[in-house]
Amino acid sequence: MQFRDLHRQYEAMKAEMDEAMLRVAASGAYIMGPQVAELEQQLAAYVGMKHCISCANGTDALWLALRALGLKAGDAVFVPDFTFFSTAEAPAILDLVPVFVDVDDKSFNMDVNDLERKWQQACNNGLRPTAVIAVDLFGRPADYDAITDFCRQKSLPLIEDGAQGFGGSIRGKHACSFGDIGTTSFFPAKPLGCYGDGGALFTNDDRYADLLRSLRVHGKGTDKYDNVRLGLNSRLDTLQAAILQVKLRHFDDELKAVNRVAAKYSQLLAGKVQTPVVPEGYTSSWAQYTIQTPNRDDLQARLKAAGVPSMVYYPHTMSRQSAFVYLNQAPCPVADRLSRSVLSLPMHPYMTDEEIETVASLI
Ligand SMILES: *Cc1c(COP(=O)(O)O)cnc(C)c1O
Repeated sequence: MQFRDLHRQYEAMKAEMDEAMLRVAASGAYIMGPQVAELEQQLAAYVGMKHCISCANGTDALWLALRALGLKAGDAVFVPDFTFFSTAEAPAILDLVPVFVDVDDKSFNMDVNDLERKWQQACNNGLRPTAVIAVDLFGRPADYDAITDFCRQKSLPLIEDGAQGFGGSIRGKHACSFGDIGTTSFFPAKPLGCYGDGGALFTNDDRYADLLRSLRVHGKGTDKYDNVRLGLNSRLDTLQAAILQVKLRHFDDELKAVNRVAAKYSQLLAGKVQTPVVPEGYTSSWAQYTIQTPNRDDLQARLKAAGVPSMVYYPHTMSRQSAFVYLNQAPCPVADRLSRSVLSLPMHPYMTDEEIETVASLI
């Protein structure tokens, strides 16, 4: 059994995919070919934002978003303590100060009460709060009603790290549209993945969009050899754009399929372990199906012995990462507890009922 069976996905769309890839190979337009701009339009329409700016990966997307906001070295940026490393790495590499916020143990996402506490603490410590990065962990959108209210009240721009959230929604509004800038990743195992690295940013703001288009190509001005600021080489390859165009056509069917898998897991596992919670009005894109259990390590060993892969996302919180020791921040208790109890099970749109039952029966 595969944790995320990308081979089955390829088989399901092989004819279309081969044709799209070969067309790029024959065209010779490997960088910024027509598929890139087409895909950006399709993604912007899907998400419901005016602009989509594609880029090389989800980590660059975060870096680019922070640069577009014009934040200054030493400024505080609030990030969840329980997330993939990039969320905190992007501000840190720009000499911003990531401030780790605890999460809610039902949603796995940023706890707005702790955000308020950490904001106050940062002010007391003489830091200047300048932005919030909320993460849609495991595919479930964060609590944007509360987070957006808080950001408005404090005049803080909001970045939505939708690397795992693409395809999720709250009352019909799509992930990557909740912040001033939304970011995502097309790493192969993400809900919408390409065949390598890729990423994108979303915004309604024309000024941010112009800046992002400049920053992703070495800070270009009106032409490519007129550089008006420092940027990155962070374009999405034409080949990856063509692959994503094919996958986007199947994406809503895949979302239905992962939601069916999640519902079956939750039905079979109810009362045995803590199953993930998706509240009324929310839709998850199920980047991960993550249970919580005090006997995590035993369970993982038992699954492994039976040939069932499982993963611990994430065994280390941000405040406990060696790379962030220099920040000297107190650990977050809920994030700590999750890092010891979470286990992600095989999850993808092509799982059979039999596979779901096999996993569930071992648990
Ligand atoms: C995967 C991921 C990223 C980084 O995306 P890459 O494309 O791998 O650089 C950022 N944030 C979160 C929450 C992620 O899961």
